[in-house]
Amino acid sequence: MRLTIDTAKCSGHARCWEAAPEVFDIDDNGYALPLDREVSEPVDAAVRAGVAACPERAITLS
Ligand code: SF4
Repeated sequence: MRLTIDTAKCSGHARCWEAAPEVFDIDDNGYALPLDREVSEPVDAAVRAGVAACPERAITLS
């Protein structure tokens, strides 16, 4: 599966990073840094937590 962040939708809540700091990175203002990578299945719980934490639906797992 592929994990991506649409940084144009990101509003800087930093919730993805709070949920899974080992997966997501943010800048000094709380905005997610670009991310586009493969994730193996079964998808790690931390990845799913980060995706679910985003109120802007900026993170996609497809
Ligand atoms: S939770 Fe969503 S809106 Fe907030 S920093 Fe992460 S990607 Fe951006």
